[in-house]
Amino acid sequence: MIRFLLVIAVALTVSCNSAQNASSKIKMAPVDYANTITAEKLKTHLYTFAGDEMEGRRTGENGNNKAAEYLRNMYMDEGIASPIEENNYYQSIPSEYFNDATNGSPSQNVVAFIKGSEKPEEIIVISAHYDHLGTRDGKIYNGADDDGSGTISILEVAKAFQKAANEGNGPKRSILILHVTGEELGLYGSKYYTDNPLFPLKNTVVNLNVDMIGRIGSEKKGNDNYIYLIGSDKLSQELHDLSENVNKKYTNLELDYKYNDDNDPNRFYYRSDHYNFAKNDIPVIFYFNGTHADYHKETDTPEKIEYELMAKRAKLIFLTAWEIANREGRITADKL
Ligand SMILES: [Zn+2]
Repeated sequence: MIRFLLVIAVALTVSCNSAQNASSKIKMAPVDYANTITAEKLKTHLYTFAGDEMEGRRTGENGNNKAAEYLRNMYMDEGIASPIEENNYYQSIPSEYFNDATNGSPSQNVVAFIKGSEKPEEIIVISAHYDHLGTRDGKIYNGADDDGSGTISILEVAKAFQKAANEGNGPKRSILILHVTGEELGLYGSKYYTDNPLFPLKNTVVNLNVDMIGRIGSEKKGNDNYIYLIGSDKLSQELHDLSENVNKKYTNLELDYKYNDDNDPNRFYYRSDHYNFAKNDIPVIFYFNGTHADYHKETDTPEKIEYELMAKRAKLIFLTAWEIANREGRITADKL
């Protein structure tokens, strides 16, 4: 009942806003929208999303489904549309797809959409996996950094784009927010998406994938101003240059490409969801803080997150997506 009333209230607010903006478009800079992503908001969401009630969010289990509902309810409350149909934010994945890894349970990707104003058919996919390891020996694996941090960051990125759209400053190309499931079991959700895309892959301009951006990795102790980028120059020099320029202009994070090296033994380029896009010749950037002592342990908890740093990284991702969405020409895979 409450949910239903809330949705009506949001729908009314949104329609009032658009009526108002038809006549007076509010002039705002991208950085004003980026600044709506704050450490405080990220913290509030992440304490719930990576809290014990989500039971470690293992794919196919109750906690994972609760996490999916949490995201869906946020999008409904914020008046952010689904690309599938009204009020249906789930791309359902049948149990068989998971090769017994979910003990016969189905799961779902959660999707949200901000339609482009000029080139709506060109899609920018911003992804993060929302599943984690579940509960083992009575211990809940909260996965605050992995990948609660990416999940909540892209939720706030979606809200910033929606606010821009409500004020008549929406992106020219479309933004697809893709919360994938099954990553920890073997990149299943992103593979399902690229096997069954909601929009043709040939119209998919880029994938920005976010997996662990809330912590300072063990190799970077004391450095509260960096992020590892992986993949940005593998398929598109244009994307790499754009990403560098956006960071120089707005965020000034130290962009570390150590793990982008083809000879790096960690092979992170092949180890998160962006790879399913890259293998389809779609340019990608993978945002990552590096591993730490709590990686894949029950001690990856929300109070250990560096919220100011996470906000700064999320702003870089928003502003990079903004530039890709609004620039004149489409980013091309110029290194194929
Ligand atoms: Zn992860």
